[in-house]
Amino acid sequence: MTADAVIIGSGPGGATAAEVLTRAGWSVVVMEKGRNHLLDPDDLTRPSGDYSNDEIKFISRHFLGPDPLIEPRAFRRSADEGEHTHVGEVNSIPTTVGGGGTHADGKVPRFREEDFRLRSVLGPQDGALVDDWPLDYEGLEPYYAEVERVVGVAGRAGANPFAAWRSGPFPMPPGPPMYGAVLSSAAAERMGLHPYEAPTAANSVAYDGRPACNNCGFCAFFGCPIHAKGDPVALLTRAMATGRVELRPETYVSRIVVEGRKATGVEYIGRDGVARTMSARVVIVAGGAVETPRILLLSGLEHPLLGRTLMVHFQTIVVGHFPDKRLHPHKGRAVTHVHDDAMIQDDAARRAAADAGLPWIRGGMVEHSGGGLPIMEARHTPWGSRHGQAMRESNLRERMWAFIMQGEDLPYLTNTVDLSPSVRDARGFPVARVTYEPGHHELAASKHHGKILQSVLEEMGAEWVMHTSSPGVSYHGVGATPVPDSRHVMGTARMGDDPATSVVDRWGRVHGLDNVVVADSSVFVTSSGYGPTLTLVALAARAAHHLAGTSPEARRDPG
Ligand SMILES: Cc1cc2nc3c(=O)[nH]c(=O)nc-3n(C[C@H](O)[C@H](O)[C@H](O)COP(=O)(O)OP(=O)(O)OC[C@H]3O[C@@H](n4cnc5c(N)ncnc54)[C@H](O)[C@@H]3O)c2cc1C
Ligand code: SF4
Repeated sequence: MTADAVIIGSGPGGATAAEVLTRAGWSVVVMEKGRNHLLDPDDLTRPSGDYSNDEIKFISRHFLGPDPLIEPRAFRRSADEGEHTHVGEVNSIPTTVGGGGTHADGKVPRFREEDFRLRSVLGPQDGALVDDWPLDYEGLEPYYAEVERVVGVAGRAGANPFAAWRSGPFPMPPGPPMYGAVLSSAAAERMGLHPYEAPTAANSVAYDGRPACNNCGFCAFFGCPIHAKGDPVALLTRAMATGRVELRPETYVSRIVVEGRKATGVEYIGRDGVARTMSARVVIVAGGAVETPRILLLSGLEHPLLGRTLMVHFQTIVVGHFPDKRLHPHKGRAVTHVHDDAMIQDDAARRAAADAGLPWIRGGMVEHSGGGLPIMEARHTPWGSRHGQAMRESNLRERMWAFIMQGEDLPYLTNTVDLSPSVRDARGFPVARVTYEPGHHELAASKHHGKILQSVLEEMGAEWVMHTSSPGVSYHGVGATPVPDSRHVMGTARMGDDPATSVVDRWGRVHGLDNVVVADSSVFVTSSGYGPTLTLVALAARAAHHLAGTSPEARRDPG
C-alpha cells in the first residue's frame, strides 16, 4: 500500500496535519508508538471513556506513557559532564494517541507580532542564535483563526491588552474563573499588572458535539473524562470521519527511508513486534521536538543544526502560603488566569537587563495556579497521628497559591538533543539524550520577574513565599534537580530560508529533501514565553495546506 502521506505521531501537530490533508482528499496513515486510550476502538470517530480523575493511574503509573523504564531519555547539563548524569524522565510528554494534547490543561495563547521578529525588535544576545522567523504574525493569523475554531478555544478578545490583533472573536466565551485566580488577579491588578482569562482549549459551552467542562479540577496531567478538551480529539475524530485515515497505535517508526532527494516511506515496528516498511508519497514527522530529531538522526539525516538550539521554557515557580484562606484549587481547569507583563519591555526590565550585563531580558506568560493534588499532598505530609488532621487543614493544597512563569528560553547551540551512545529503549534503539543548561539570560529574567511575582503573592496576603525554578539551579539549594521538567519543547529543527542556518524551510520541509515535512515545535526559531501548542498547530495546518494546495477556511461550522 502507498499512502499519500504517512504521519509519524498523533499529537496536536500530527493530528492537525491529518485533519487538513484528509479534508483535502488525501489518504493518510498515522503511526503512533503509544497506546490508544483516546478514541473508541469500535468507532474511531468517537472519543473513548478511558480517562478518569485518578492521580495514581496518570501520575504514578504512567497510564499515558512513556514509562521511563521502557522508553527513558538520557540527560546531562553539558558535554563536560560526560555521557550522561541521569536516565529516566526528561521533559516527558505522553506517548499515546493524542500525544501531549490529551494530558495538557490546554492554555493556548497565540504568539504576538514581535515573537516572530525578536532579532529585529530586540536585537541579538551573545551566545544565542536569536533570529527572526521566515514568516510573520500577519501570515499565520488565518491559520490561528482556523485551528482555534476546529479545536474549540474559549477566551475573550480584548481581555489581554498586549495581545496581537485577531480577525474574529474566540469561538467560545471564557469559562468560570478559579476562586484563587480571582484573588491573585485582583492582587496583580493592584500591582499594576494585567491579568486576563487564559485562552483555553476546553469547552466553556457545549461545542463540536462535546460537552462543556465541568471544572473537575484534574486538568493538567490528566486526560479529560468527558472530552471537554478539544486538542487533539476534535482534530482526530474529524479526520477519522472522512474515512481517509488509518490510525496505527503501538507502531514505532524507526527510520525514514530516503533515496536521493526523496523519502520513499518509513520502516516501522508494529504492535506484533515485526519490522516492516510502508511507502508514502510524503512523510510528515510530528514526534515532538525531542523525538523528531531522534527519528531524523536515526534515519541518517545530517545537518549541523539538527537537534541543536533546544528550548524548553525556563520555569520560574513562586509559591505562597495562605494559612487563613481556603483557595479551592480542587475546582477549575488548573489555570484560568494568566498575565503577559513579564514579556513586555519596561524600565524595570531594562534596568535588570543592564545590571545583568545583557541587552534585554524577557520573561514569559505567568500562570496563576493552585497547589498540589490530594495524593501528592499526602505523600508530602508526614505519617503518624497528625496526618489526618494535617490533610484536613490542607496546607499544601487548599492554602497554597502559585505563579509559574514559562520564561522565554534563548536558542543556544549548546542545548541539544542527540542519540545516546549507550542507552537504548526496550525496542533496542538509542534513546534521545538531552543536553540542557539555562543561560545567563534565563537566570537574570527569572530573578527579576520572580521578585515581582513574590510581591504579588504578598499583596494577596501570603504569610510566606518562596521562589524556585525548573530546572533548579545551584543557588536554589538542596533537592533542586538540573533536569528540566517543562513540557514545552522547541527548536531542534529550526526553520529558515537559508539551508546553511536552518534545518527546514518556511513550510516545514527538510532542506535537501523534497517530501519530508516537520509538523511540530521542532521548527520554532525562538521560543517566546507562550505555550507552544497553538502556534505549532497553526504551523502544522499551514504546512499541510501548502502540501495540499488548499487554504484555511475563513469561517467554518465546527460540526
Ligand atoms: C501536563 C502538561 C501540560 C501542558 N500544558 C500546556 C499548555 O497549557 N499550553 C501549551 O501550549 N502546551 C502545553 N503542554 C505541551 C503540549 O502538550 C505540547 O506542546 C504538545 O503536545 C506538542 O504537540 P506535538 O504534536 O508536537 O507533540 P506530542 O504531543 O509530543 O506528540 C507526539 C506524538 O508522536 C509520537 N511519536 C514520537 N516518536 C514516534 C515514533 N518514532 N513513531 C511513532 N510515534 C512517535 C509520540 O508517542 C506522541 O504521541 C503541556 C504538556 C503537558 C504534558
Ligand atoms: S477541568 Fe474541565 S477540561 Fe479539564 S479535565 Fe476537568 S472537565 Fe475536562
